[in-house]
Amino acid sequence: MSQQRNDRPDGDLRNTGMSLRHDREWDYELDRIVEEVEERGAETVGLQFPEGLKRRGPGVADDLRESLPDDVSVMISGQPCYGACDLDTYLMKRTDVFVHFGHSPMKDSNKILYVPLFSNVDVFPIIEEAIGNQLASPDEDPDVGLVTTAQHMNKFEEMREFLEDEGYTVHTRRGDDRLTHEGQVLGCNYESADIDADQVLYVGGGKFHPLGLAMEHQDKNVVIADPVNNAVTIADAEQFLKERYASVHKAMDAESWGVIFCTKIGQGRWEEAQEIVDNNDDAYLITMDEITPDRLLNFGMDAYVNTGCPRITTDDGPQFHAPMLTPGEYKIAIGEKPLDELEFDTFHGTW
Ligand code: SF4
Repeated sequence: MSQQRNDRPDGDLRNTGMSLRHDREWDYELDRIVEEVEERGAETVGLQFPEGLKRRGPGVADDLRESLPDDVSVMISGQPCYGACDLDTYLMKRTDVFVHFGHSPMKDSNKILYVPLFSNVDVFPIIEEAIGNQLASPDEDPDVGLVTTAQHMNKFEEMREFLEDEGYTVHTRRGDDRLTHEGQVLGCNYESADIDADQVLYVGGGKFHPLGLAMEHQDKNVVIADPVNNAVTIADAEQFLKERYASVHKAMDAESWGVIFCTKIGQGRWEEAQEIVDNNDDAYLITMDEITPDRLLNFGMDAYVNTGCPRITTDDGPQFHAPMLTPGEYKIAIGEKPLDELEFDTFHGTW
């Protein structure tokens, strides 16, 4: 998400897409990268890491250089990276092999080598703790939805079997093509939780994903089994909703609107941005890649609408000098929609 995000002590993943808190060993799949370089006869290799793993970049480059011929150059992207939507297209175009670490593919491409970096944290003790406590036991309610993040996707089938062995009927689905795997959720897409069950078990770290999940599926009991912080909680969207209502209220008197179109490859919603400026003479379309308070300060608009990554609006919104709304919240602020139709902003499709 935005570069304003600081490391949060509770292991919240919104900063990085993953946490270094446990200093886990990741499998960088160096052999696969070397093989790819050899197969393509590559002379240049680009490496892109999520924010939380950037400090590992030089070490991974060293290890690669040891295995690669001397005339192959290895470069590291210094661009911010918060998801598979956030590819360094400049480096990608200028390297023969481009490696994106830490996220699952949003769109397949021969050019990009995705190295997912699965977590090796044991997820089962915390799932066991959730059962019969925050998660209704199979006797009370046998139906449960199961979702997780890309980091734990390698354990998904085992999680399903574990729950089935406990007596549950496990409901899973794959969302739209923004999601690579069945049961996977993103900070901007929870379609895989559109299942026929009143309770959903989210296995993963932090509050970042489940909050959106709880907002998007307010009719369901969303149980967070967090194997990173070893905690089970219920996702509660109430406080979050209050914050969003407050931002919408503040924006209701705005006389000038900045409508942000994000130029990152997987974060552009051109039609949505255009529709707003076409229908509002006081709205101005602003294009940018990283959306930060500093970059917007000099525009001095009364309010902004962010059509890029929804998490920037919802997680970093309070850091901006003027209210920052999602496209749906904008409609409420200008009176096109009633306040009780406030929804979580989700992002669908790829590019
Ligand atoms: S747009 Fe979606 S996938 Fe990309 S950084 Fe934001 S939440 Fe993550």
